[in-house]
Amino acid sequence: MSYKNYPMVSRVVFGRGCFNQLADIISPKRLNTRAPFIFLVDDVFKGDAWLNSRIPLAYDDQLIYISAEEEPKTSQVDELVEQIILTHKDRPSGIIGIGGGTLLDLAKAVAVMLTNEGESRDYQGWDLVKNPAIYHVGVPTISGTGAEVSRTTVLTGPEKKLGINSDYTPFDQVILDPELTKDVPKEQWFYTGMDCYIHCIESLNGTYLNAFSQSYGEKAFELCKEIFLDNDLSEEESQDKLMMASWHGGMSIAYSQVGVAHAMSYGLSFLLGTKHGIGNCIVFDHLEEFYPEGVALFKKMKKKFDIKLPQGLCADLDEQQFDTMIDVAISLEPLWENALGKNWKQTITREKLRALYEKM
Ligand code: NAD
Ligand code: ZN
Repeated sequence: MSYKNYPMVSRVVFGRGCFNQLADIISPKRLNTRAPFIFLVDDVFKGDAWLNSRIPLAYDDQLIYISAEEEPKTSQVDELVEQIILTHKDRPSGIIGIGGGTLLDLAKAVAVMLTNEGESRDYQGWDLVKNPAIYHVGVPTISGTGAEVSRTTVLTGPEKKLGINSDYTPFDQVILDPELTKDVPKEQWFYTGMDCYIHCIESLNGTYLNAFSQSYGEKAFELCKEIFLDNDLSEEESQDKLMMASWHGGMSIAYSQVGVAHAMSYGLSFLLGTKHGIGNCIVFDHLEEFYPEGVALFKKMKKKFDIKLPQGLCADLDEQQFDTMIDVAISLEPLWENALGKNWKQTITREKLRALYEKM
């Protein structure tokens, strides 16, 4: 038996306002004046002086605004890498991603692809990356995905939605400033926050669970309950705690896996472009038989924050479309095995998944 030896984020700073230290943190990492820092920033911050005035642009540094309307694609990563190579004489000193899971994943993928030949679709999978990435920094502005700690970057390619899972994927530096999440709209806050909650439920109820995952998962679960069920947190406490819940939830699945909700939500996302947070919620709402207590609490949280999930997503789909979704979901074997054990194929048939999708 050999145990996995995981890389972790090398440095992390936490605190309200710590984003002010960005310049001090990255400037020692500048290789030379022709090797720029590239800032990939969610375009929701365009024109936002409060945030932008603290992005330290010098020499040939470049700021690229990117929409998080759609989740990252392999083609988008390849285009960004090409654009960066063509614009600058030297390889960048670093990539800084500022935004939610979408921007964090883009930053990780671009950092990896700047030092590895070929196209990003060639690296979707486990441990296919050969060369270390360039220095990369993650600055989350919405909490829940755990993308700030994970060793993957989830990309949609021509054939599959799958992460680049590698020892070179995790950030070298993460800046956790909960103040940056202050303007997240309520619905989005809930959807992305529930991604964290669902990571906890899937990890804690999985067959891969061990003491490492459990310790992080339980902490994240406890924080989620404080934030989404109890009534005694100030807005600031809630922002601080959700940022840490996301971190712990991400650490919890590092050494285990996600489960049924993620497998099925990947299917929705691949076919319909449904985004991760809301997609997980739509699926999880129908998973009582797999996670009875987790789903019951989820329904309470939904009610408390008056969240109305979209219904009838799969109402007008044809046979072929159902097949595509089922193919994507069922191919994620480690997720099913974690959720239901080695004999998962006895419970999870194509008919079973079809019946579940029809409810959504
Ligand atoms: P997101 O990055 O897609 O952003 C969601 C929305 O919130 C966008 O409209 C964005 O503009 C907005 N937003 C972000 N910060 C804001 C702020 N401070 N104020 C106002 N609006 C703000 O959302 P997400 O849920 O964080 O990320 C989802 C993505 O993360 C998916 O692509 C998913 O595949 C990925 N993901 C990755 C991992 C991983 O381990 N790498 C894990 C889970 C999910
Ligand atoms: Zn997730």
